[in-house]
Amino acid sequence: MTIRCAEIMEQGLDARTDISAIKIAVPAAMHRVVDRAIQVHGALGVSSEIPLEGMYRGARTLRLADGPDEVHKILIAKNVPSAYRNGESWDFGL
Ligand SMILES: Cc1cc2nc3c(=O)[nH]c(=O)nc-3n(C[C@H](O)[C@H](O)[C@H](O)COP(=O)(O)OP(=O)(O)OC[C@H]3O[C@@H](n4cnc5c(N)ncnc54)[C@H](O)[C@@H]3O)c2cc1C
Repeated sequence: MTIRCAEIMEQGLDARTDISAIKIAVPAAMHRVVDRAIQVHGALGVSSEIPLEGMYRGARTLRLADGPDEVHKILIAKNVPSAYRNGESWDFGL
């Protein structure tokens, strides 16, 4: 997704929908990974003895900062169907 987005930007095209998709996918992945790591570590995972609790707060914060997920989803839901209405298609690079 990131490489495709970089290519779009290099071409000088509008990459905002792709950026929104990345902004949803990356924090979700980070949140999932840190959550699993905490589960593996049990109670130690949420203690201040190891950095996972701080990472978890950071992962959760990313879903809000620079626009919450919902706002990016609304943007995607507006832009992708309009591409199809214009006879184009959409490739998120997945
Ligand atoms: C660590 C951190 C750093 C930040 N740095 C900056 C910065 O450098 N510069 C800056 O300008 N801002 C910064 N922010 C602010 C950040 O951009 C806002 O917190 C973010 O846009 C969400 O706005 P809000 O907190 O006012 O939540 P709100 O806008 O009140 O949203 C709360 C919730 O309501 C829902 N919601 C809101 N609007 C809609 C909508 N239109 N449709 C559907 N649901 C909606 C969402 O679920 C959302 O999570 C930062 C925030 C954090 C946490």
